[in-house]
Amino acid sequence: MIHSSSKKNKAVRVRFAPSPTGPLHLGGIRTALYNYLFAKKYGGTFILRIEDTDRKRFVSDSESYILETLKWCQIEPDEGVGYGGNHIPYYQSQRGEIYSVYIKKLLEEGYAYYAFDTDHELHLKRKEFHDLGFTFSYNSYIRMHLNNSLTMTRKQLSEKLNSCSSYVIRFKINPGENLKIHDMIRGTIVVNTDNLDDKILLKSNGVATYHLASTIDDHLMKITHVIRGEEWLSSMSFHILLYRALGWIPPKFAHLPLILRNDGKGKLSKRNMESLNYPIIPLQWKDPVTKNIIKGYRELGYFPEAFVNMLALLGWNPGGKKEIFSLKELINLFSLEKITKSGVFFNINKTNWFNKQYLKKKKKEILFSLYKELKKRSLFYEYEEDYLTKVIHLTIDRVHFLHEIWEHSFYFFISPSSYEKSFFNKVCHKKTIDQLEFCKKSLLNINQFSSVHLRLFLFFFTKKENEKEKHQIMKLLRLALVGKLEGADIFIILEMIGKKESIRRIENMMRKIKEKIK
Ligand code: GLU
Repeated sequence: MIHSSSKKNKAVRVRFAPSPTGPLHLGGIRTALYNYLFAKKYGGTFILRIEDTDRKRFVSDSESYILETLKWCQIEPDEGVGYGGNHIPYYQSQRGEIYSVYIKKLLEEGYAYYAFDTDHELHLKRKEFHDLGFTFSYNSYIRMHLNNSLTMTRKQLSEKLNSCSSYVIRFKINPGENLKIHDMIRGTIVVNTDNLDDKILLKSNGVATYHLASTIDDHLMKITHVIRGEEWLSSMSFHILLYRALGWIPPKFAHLPLILRNDGKGKLSKRNMESLNYPIIPLQWKDPVTKNIIKGYRELGYFPEAFVNMLALLGWNPGGKKEIFSLKELINLFSLEKITKSGVFFNINKTNWFNKQYLKKKKKEILFSLYKELKKRSLFYEYEEDYLTKVIHLTIDRVHFLHEIWEHSFYFFISPSSYEKSFFNKVCHKKTIDQLEFCKKSLLNINQFSSVHLRLFLFFFTKKENEKEKHQIMKLLRLALVGKLEGADIFIILEMIGKKESIRRIENMMRKIKEKIK
């Protein structure tokens, strides 16, 4: 636990270490955010390292995507790829020479060994075990029956190496230990080393694996806290043993909970991003192979502040009822101890709710978007700011996005260009014309065209009509004014657009019905 006295501790160094395998998804960007918040809270350094040792999974454009995402979320690194720093290079693919120094050390000191088993041999072993009802694992019990330097004399080994056989280097797990590891979120976990396998440190192509590379980098880059996804929790014990073998003190670890689908179908993953009906990536992504474009939160109209606020609370909560936090507030309140242990459900409706809360604060942007729409229709000079402000006030509760404003407020400016088909078709008859005619006449007789008077008018008017009929007339009036059966209070709409325009819209609809029933 970090105590408040260490709040000014400049030494906190955390890293976001994505692999460039495509766009970031919600889990990835949340990991970046939590690292950022933690670094900023303690006046520390947030580092971006690109873990690109697995060239088979490399996807071009991922790096620029990551950088752009961090910028959009305003959680930019202090150091690392794109930002420089004292620990270059920040690409693992460029750090091969550094890793080989430590590989050599581990081999010399007996913590690692050469393994020559071919893929085919391992495949056969797996099959053999499987047929007997066991799972094969390259571990301390099996390794003495396999093709590796532990089962060879020195001479055999040097001959094997000289004959240039392809090999991997594995970490040698010592069995029989109850290893205690501590996770800042989950507490202490005990792992028996009998259950660990001898993981590969160096692949047959001479490239270090993630495990070795990230352990060495975290140490050399002076990382104090490793904050990463839960999927890495099972590797933590192995990483701790690697630190021990290298004679280094490990950083503190915190594994973040999984983000789960709301429909109970497991975790959110990039694999099903095209089949979900909500976005799980922050920015638009164009698949370099299929050229398919998948929209992200940014393109769909979410504000970065709302996105970040939602993400911050997806697995962490400072306590209390407050849900809207600025980035500054998040930094002040953030603590690893308040991160939840179990998986968290992602909820798109809640995400939209967050966007709405931020939209409500953006009066200027909304005003500007209305001006833009009016300008397109050369109506720019016809409306005072007061009128627009009223429209915004009447519309804001119905929308979640800036781009929805016009769709939900156009009827305060222009008459509907069409009518909701299903209802319109149902009311296409003579009786409707009579009802609209009645409405028109009644409205013409009202001198004070205010919502209060108009409401009173309805009161008297309904005395004559039965409830059902009254309801029908209100629906017709709404269809005439708005074009659909939704929108603001009908009396307020009448008052806002005025008597002349209201009558015009009623006449328009009467004409359309007449044309249709002719
Ligand atoms: N490169 C790993 C990933 O993309 C990061 C794991 C870690 O943070 O240690 O998931």
